[in-house]
Amino acid sequence: MTEFKQLRRYGILDAKVPRYTSYPPANHFSDQVGQANQSEWLRAVPQGSAVSLYIHIPFCKRLCWFCACRTQGTSTLRPVEAYVETLLHEIDLIRARLPKDVSLSRLHLGGGTPTILPSGLMALLLDKLFANFEKGDAFEFSVEIDPTEASPDLLDTLLSYGMNRASIGVQDFDPDVQKAIGRLQSFQQTSDVVHHLRSGNLHSLNMDLLYGLPFQTQESLSQSLQEVMSLQPDRLALYGYAHVPWMSKRQVLIDESALPDPQMRYELSGIARVLLTSDGFEQIGFDHFARPGDGLSIAKANGQLRRNFQGYTDDTADVLIGLGASSISKFPQGYSQNESATAKYVTAIEGQTLAGARGYALSDADRWVALAIEQLMCGFAVNIAQLQADFPTYAPIISTAFTQLAAAFPLGVTLDDNSLTVNPGFEPLVRILAGQLDAFQASQTSHSSAI
Ligand code: SF4
Repeated sequence: MTEFKQLRRYGILDAKVPRYTSYPPANHFSDQVGQANQSEWLRAVPQGSAVSLYIHIPFCKRLCWFCACRTQGTSTLRPVEAYVETLLHEIDLIRARLPKDVSLSRLHLGGGTPTILPSGLMALLLDKLFANFEKGDAFEFSVEIDPTEASPDLLDTLLSYGMNRASIGVQDFDPDVQKAIGRLQSFQQTSDVVHHLRSGNLHSLNMDLLYGLPFQTQESLSQSLQEVMSLQPDRLALYGYAHVPWMSKRQVLIDESALPDPQMRYELSGIARVLLTSDGFEQIGFDHFARPGDGLSIAKANGQLRRNFQGYTDDTADVLIGLGASSISKFPQGYSQNESATAKYVTAIEGQTLAGARGYALSDADRWVALAIEQLMCGFAVNIAQLQADFPTYAPIISTAFTQLAAAFPLGVTLDDNSLTVNPGFEPLVRILAGQLDAFQASQTSHSSAI
């Protein structure tokens, strides 16, 4: 409780800060970076290197009220089929710019609802991908699965193409909470899909949960967690629900008066952490949990945990290429985001150009901040001496930045000659600490709550 009082003094209840899946966050991308940069950065990928692919499928049959994902509702498959045709063309355009001998580190299908694709359409997309990209040694293929949509036939297709990681959105099993967020999904539906995947020798299963939802209580969240744990996931992502109706119009359907207050959010996240860690999960960063032996736990132990647009990852590839509307690519040179509107994305690709419409070119002044924020988010510590050695021009600025950070949060962090470490119990501060290093963090109103 002492920590909570101190966290409150440090502004944890009021702070609105980015999740820092990139630095700078995507709201600072601009149209100064477009498809010409995207093309140049693709052509600069070194021969023989590994790249990862993210494919965005921006369609859902249902639109859940809580969800801020970029997706559109559809009751027919016609727009999905047309979209997949465009993806096939985009694969050609991307592949033509890459060296012949790149290999594939990771393939992730996300959305939206990737499992809205029927088996035949999914096979068409995967045939095209694997004809163009050779799988690397430690290749992993992961898919976001909606248990209310995924047919056994589609699951078998994904498994036959080598899907070895699946991610299932649960959020909460409590019926009242599900009604309040416009997403009905029974335990039985979820369990059936999990058992189907396990019988197909799926290597790793992730489940996504949310705390801070309307009507959620410590008891209801604990019950949901017990049900989730009975399905034996290997990883869990526990996100704080971000109520941002000014950004995600669907969220106006959520009854704000039923949302837990900030102190309850803090308690909900605390009870979830205790339950999961006492069940044998290891905490990974500030919102993930993994079984010992899982890739994320191993990466954490080896100091190789990283952060990308999907959250925490053990992917070591330097290049992540996003395909599909609104997807973001990450290159050593910067970020490139495809046209967000599906129609504009389709027009760009069908015009035989890439779809990069906005982005950000990184300078060294951004790179040291990006690295420091990634270290904070992944390991709750920053190796200041190494950072100064890697960016000698910025060594005095780096020194001043961390001295100021330590002075502003004296109980929250410890500073010595070489490093800054977040003190035990003050891990929830990490996004606020990152925000202090963020040169763009002028406005605090457009992001989600720090807890
Ligand atoms: S939670 Fe999933 S199914 Fe629901 S709107 Fe978001 S992406 Fe679509």
